[in-house]
Amino acid sequence: MNFYGHDKQVELFLRTIKSNRLHHAYIFSGIKGIGKRYFATNIARYLCCEERAYFSKCLCRSCRMIDEGMHPDIYQINRESLLADNIRELISDISMTATVGTYKVVIIDDADVLSATNQVVAANILLKTLEEPSDSTIFFLITDRYDEILATIRSRAVNIMFRPLEFHDVKDAVSSLRPDISFIDTAVSLSYGSIGKALDIIDSNIINVNQLLIDKEFVKFVEYIRSVPDTKTLFMVISNIYPYVLVLYKETGYYELSELSYYMLEILKRLNYNINLDLIKSDFASKIVEVLSEKI
Ligand SMILES: [Zn+2]
Repeated sequence: MNFYGHDKQVELFLRTIKSNRLHHAYIFSGIKGIGKRYFATNIARYLCCEERAYFSKCLCRSCRMIDEGMHPDIYQINRESLLADNIRELISDISMTATVGTYKVVIIDDADVLSATNQVVAANILLKTLEEPSDSTIFFLITDRYDEILATIRSRAVNIMFRPLEFHDVKDAVSSLRPDISFIDTAVSLSYGSIGKALDIIDSNIINVNQLLIDKEFVKFVEYIRSVPDTKTLFMVISNIYPYVLVLYKETGYYELSELSYYMLEILKRLNYNINLDLIKSDFASKIVEVLSEKI
């Protein structure tokens, strides 16, 4: 088990726990893919660990249960399970004494979802619990949209901000997870300090796609665009080749390339909404053929 970066937060929590000043609720904020949930899981491990292992490997009964997602006192709630009935059940569960250790820990992913209008009931149940904290239950609310967390929840939790990771931390993490990849440095530099984003870039083959454009393999590029499976991948492909199109425009001065770059920005905006993916892919592919293969 390795953890990368966030040294300040690692030290802060050790000091806080050792001096018995742990708060009952924390918001972990920062961009996606930098290890916020993993950090919360590590704090949970420490609180329950029989060997008091802190951010280090441990095979005690409690740590093994956490690693297998089977620990009865650790509750992980994700976007899909963030429903009023589940929160109600959770609150009733945590009102009972911890089964294995002293603490119960609740980790809620995408906690900003609670501000949606259809989540009022779930949010209110949670809020009531945060208003009457228990000494033995700790909440970690994870978000990449701190501003969208309900103000009533924000005021009852301590915000810990996580910054994007350093290049070497992302590289170390990605190298251990995808040991056979040759273009790790490029993926890491495009990742803005997020392990998750670097992995997305590697898994979606975007670096190879960029190379197709650089090699002027437009037919293969268009084939790839037509095969893109979802809006998220198309968004990443377009945002990654956008700077390349601008460079080409500066080099050649072709007006059509400037138009193409505006068109790409327009697509990126539209991809945030419910759109017909096939239509956009086919439109973009023809535009690429029209501009690039004729001019470059
Ligand atoms: Zn342990």
